[in-house]
Amino acid sequence: MGEIDLPGLKDRLWHKMRDDLVSLVPWFADNDLLLCPTCCRAFKYEGFSLEHIIPQQALAEDPALARAAVPKNERSGMTLLCNRTLVFEKKSIPGQGCNNWKGKHYDRFIREALRPDVLKKQFHARHHMALVAAGYLGLFREYGYQIALLPTGLLMRMQFFNPNSFLKEFPVGYQMVLTGEGRAEYDEEARAYWSEPFKTSIDRDVAHVVMRNFSIMLPLSRDPKAPLARALRYAPPRFKFRPDLTTAFD
Ligand SMILES: [Zn+2]
Repeated sequence: MGEIDLPGLKDRLWHKMRDDLVSLVPWFADNDLLLCPTCCRAFKYEGFSLEHIIPQQALAEDPALARAAVPKNERSGMTLLCNRTLVFEKKSIPGQGCNNWKGKHYDRFIREALRPDVLKKQFHARHHMALVAAGYLGLFREYGYQIALLPTGLLMRMQFFNPNSFLKEFPVGYQMVLTGEGRAEYDEEARAYWSEPFKTSIDRDVAHVVMRNFSIMLPLSRDPKAPLARALRYAPPRFKFRPDLTTAFD
């Protein structure tokens, strides 16, 4: 089965994400900028790359029948992440921004976690952090920028840049992962397992994100399904190359 053409997909995601952002922060209506879902820096179209949330190396290990039946982009869950150099404490991080950061710190661990024999192998903190990073992007993908701009979004974005352990601000009650045996084979009745990789449900201040055979909990400052009464003001950050980790909703 052919894959969706990627330039067309980048355009569609760009417009969808722009529409969502403009609806929350009207300042963006008059320019051609978008905020990166993880660092929240604003860039033009060229500053973004397509991101396979479930990484391509993991998708390559899906059973042959699943690969034949469900297109790669559908198994992956796609978003845009920035590809511009990150700077922390005046040091620049070589590589292509958040796109590369996720690849370097998380993709291998997402791949290992999704192997059907994961329960027989060691599952350590980095696997958990990688599922949190992927789960955040899955949540962002479903509910858009309000997820990124909530105080809990700031926390999850800061967590994204701390791949080794949970930040002390991350509520302890949310620091767990539930898992069952992964599916080793594809069958048509379980197509949903292989297609949209994130199934989310919201229960007030918690988002349950199911990713194939894992379930994690992410904190939420507000229910993203409840209507928002106001539009946000936005002040472009002075230091453009530093990740903007301030939050807009309070
Ligand atoms: Zn970024």
